[in-house]
Order: sequence, then structure tokens, then C-alpha cells
Amino acid sequence: MEIYSPEQQVTLPLYQSKGVEVFFKRDDMIHPFISGNKWRKLKYNLHKANYLQKDTLVTFGGAWSNHLLATSCAGATYHFRTIGFVRGEAINNPLLDMCRLFGMQLIFVSREDYRNKQNLFQQLENLAPCYFIDEGGAGIEATRGCKEIIAELHNAYDHIFCAAGTGTTAAGLALGITDKQLHTQLHVIPVLKNGGFIAEEMKILDAPMELVHLHIDYHFGGYAKSNPILLEFVKDFVQATGIMIEPTYSGKALFALHDLIQKDFFPAKSKILFVHTGGLTGLLGQLEKFNKVQ
Ligand SMILES: *Cc1c(COP(=O)(O)O)cnc(C)c1O
Repeated sequence: MEIYSPEQQVTLPLYQSKGVEVFFKRDDMIHPFISGNKWRKLKYNLHKANYLQKDTLVTFGGAWSNHLLATSCAGATYHFRTIGFVRGEAINNPLLDMCRLFGMQLIFVSREDYRNKQNLFQQLENLAPCYFIDEGGAGIEATRGCKEIIAELHNAYDHIFCAAGTGTTAAGLALGITDKQLHTQLHVIPVLKNGGFIAEEMKILDAPMELVHLHIDYHFGGYAKSNPILLEFVKDFVQATGIMIEPTYSGKALFALHDLIQKDFFPAKSKILFVHTGGLTGLLGQLEKFNKVQ
């Protein structure tokens, strides 16, 4: 499938006053439902499932998982049955409703059972030829897809920024950078508390770490947590550029970029790329928060 993900320069007074150039890799434009890095992470998993002649994709996620939605839509598009294990008690929300609309069968499991994903998978594998995709699409196949972000770039950058949940996207970017023998510094912003573990996850995925900077202080209290400062920041950016971002991933990573620009972390004339990893359907559960900030 052809994809459309332009590299778009954005000008803001902050960038101009510090003399830096900032571009956005618009992976959010790849697909409305198989969005951003979830498309990148599914690509080679789908190839492999096809090659292995598996007709059912089995995967895992929380109740607001962008990955569950992406997998459900990819299944409908490429003719796989899809089953999603959802962590926690049975609930309903617009994201899960869309998963069902794409034909995904949802199975709610307790947090305890959810921990043993292989066990849940094996129960289904006895019934049909199933293909296992980890939570968030994480894994080696996923890094192959994310590597292609670097191969697609038209410009050379001094710095690349991305958000991290499992670190798979960051690992793919790091692999892509060394593959092309670039000197680009990769800045990774964990969206969870105590994000140091992302470095370990990246190493497990064979990512070279020499050019990687981990910025672990931009989690705003933990996964999916936010505060009025972050929400205000997201709102201002969206209104100043027309580019939609959300507070769970891209908002935190972009906040980090702006904070570092402000603190003169980058010399003038630096060329910076922000990877917009998409996932805007996550906003559906968060829009009300914005009404509470002025
Ligand atoms: C899932 C997701 C991430 C996290 O990617 P990892 O590869 O797990 O680090 C980042 N941004 C968005 C928008 C996501 O949906």
C-alpha cells in the first residue's frame, strides 16, 4: 500500500526566535485508524502472518489502545479475523465500539490474567491458526517497519524527536539512523513514569544507543496523566498550527522539544524533525479535559 506521510516545516515564533528549523513527519496522515506508528508496527507483522498462513490476528491492549483499533481495521482491510484481549473489567467506549465495528472480537480479562499473554494466546491457538501480536504491536517485526521512517526522509536532520511507550518506534528509528550512517541525535520521550526502562527495551530490540538521548522528566505524572500546563500547551499548539496532537504521546514529546528549545539546548541553525506518531483517536476519551482549561 502506498502511504502519504509528508515532511512538513512548521514555523512558530519560538522556532524563529531561537533560529531553529522544525519539521514534522506526518505519520498521523498515513491512515485515520491504522494510525502513525501503529501502521509502521503492523506492516511486517501482517506480512509474516500472511506468509505463515494464519487467518486470525490475536492481540492485546488497554481500553483506549490505539493499537487495538489499528489491528481491527488492518484485519478488515487485509482479511484477517481479529481478536483483542482487553485489560480490565468489561467497559464500553467509542474506541472499543469502533474496534467491534471493524469486526474485532473483544475479550475482557482481569489484570492478573492479562499478565500471561502467551497463555491467553495458546487457548485460542488450539482452535484456529492464530498470529500473536504483542501489546502496542511491540517487537522485532515492528522495528523493521519503523526503520522505514528514516529511509523515507528527504532532508538530513541534526535531531529527531519521538514519544515512547514501549520504545519500539524509538528502536526502529535508532536502527534506521545507524543503517544510513547518519549523525542524527535521537531524542526519546517516555510517556510513562520511571522511563529509564525504555533504554533497556530498546537494547533488547538491538537498537544502537550511542546517538540516543532519553528525556525521562516529561511524563506529567505517568501514562495518560496530564495537567493544565500540558493541556494548555496542546491547545495552543493545535490552534497555532492546525496540526492535531494529543496529550498522551505527541503532546508530551512536543512539550519536551519546546522546553529544550526554550532552554537553548540546540544551537541556532539546528534542523529538527518531530515524528508525529498519530493516535488521535485516543483524544475521544480526553476532549472534556480541554474544556476545563482556559
Ligand atoms: C502507541 C503510541 C506510541 C508509543 O510507541 P512505542 O513504539 O510503543 O514506543 C507513541 N505515539 C502514539 C501516538 C502511539 O499511539
